Amino acid sequence: MTYKNHPMVSRVVFGRGSFSQLSDILAPKRLNVKAPFIYLVDDVFKGNAWLTSRISLAYEDQLLFISADKEPSTSQVDELVEQIILNHKDHPSGIIGIGGGTILDLAKAVAIMLTNEGGAKDYQGWDLVKSPAIYHVGVPTISGTGAEVSRTTVLTGPDRKLGINSDFTPFDQVILDPELTKDVPKDQWFYTGMDCFIHCVESLNGTYLNAFSQSYGEKAYDLCKEIFMDGNGSAEEMQDKLMMASWHGGMSIAYSQVGVAHAMSYGLGYHLGVKHGIGNCIVFDHLEEFYPKDVAIFKEMKKIHGINLPQGICAQLTDDEFNIMIDVALGLEPLWENALGKKWKQIITREKLRTLYEKM
Ligand code: NAD
Ligand code: ZN
Repeated sequence: MTYKNHPMVSRVVFGRGSFSQLSDILAPKRLNVKAPFIYLVDDVFKGNAWLTSRISLAYEDQLLFISADKEPSTSQVDELVEQIILNHKDHPSGIIGIGGGTILDLAKAVAIMLTNEGGAKDYQGWDLVKSPAIYHVGVPTISGTGAEVSRTTVLTGPDRKLGINSDFTPFDQVILDPELTKDVPKDQWFYTGMDCFIHCVESLNGTYLNAFSQSYGEKAYDLCKEIFMDGNGSAEEMQDKLMMASWHGGMSIAYSQVGVAHAMSYGLGYHLGVKHGIGNCIVFDHLEEFYPKDVAIFKEMKKIHGINLPQGICAQLTDDEFNIMIDVALGLEPLWENALGKKWKQIITREKLRTLYEKM
């Protein structure tokens, strides 16, 4: 038996207002005046001086506002890398991603692709990255995905939606400032928060579970229930808790795996462009058979927060379209094996997946 030797984020700051330390943290990492820091910032913060005034640009530093309307793609990563190389004489001193999972994943992928040849699509998979990425920093502004702590960056490529999973992917530095999440719209708060809840459910109920994953998963699961079921506490306390839940949920799956909801949600994402958080919710709502207790809790949380999920998104699909989604879902073998054990193929057939997708 070989044991996973798991890399982790090497430095982390936590606390409300800690984002103000960004410049101080970066200063010693500047390689030279020609090697800029490149900031990839969610364009929801365009014109938001409260946040942007704390990013101090010096020398050739550059701030790029990026839309999170679409999930990151391999071609978008390649274009960003090309743009950075063309615009600057030296390799950057660092890449700083400020936003949700979309922007964090982009930052990780760009940092990797600045030091590795070819295109981002060549590295979708496990342990294909050869050279260490350049210094990269993650600053989440919405909580739930665990992208701030994970060793993957999920990209939609020409052939598949799959992460660049590598020891070089995790951030070198993360700043966890829950105050940055204060203006997240309610629906999005729920969808991304449920991503965390579902990470915990899939990890805790999976066959890959071990004491490491369990200890993080149980903590994050309890925090999610405190936030989304009980809701006792100030808005600030809830933001703090959800940011830690996201981190712990990410740590839990780091040493195990996700399961049925994620496999099927990737199918929806790849073919219909349904985003990760809401896609997981749409799928999870129909998974009583696999996760009965937690789907009941999820439905209760939906009710408490008045969330109405889209219905009938697969109603008009053709056989070919269902088959594309089923292929994507079935391709995620480790997820199924974690969820259902080594004999998962006896339980999950194409017909079974079709029936489930038809309900969504
Ligand atoms: P997101 O980054 O797509 O953002 C969702 C929406 O929230 C966007 O409209 C964004 O502009 C907005 N937003 C973000 N912060 C805000 C703020 N402070 N105030 C107001 N609006 C704000 O959402 P997400 O759910 O965090 O990320 C989803 C992405 O994460 C997907 O691409 C998914 O594949 C990826 N993901 C990655 C991992 C990983 O381990 N790498 C894990 C899970 C999901
Ligand atoms: Zn997820």
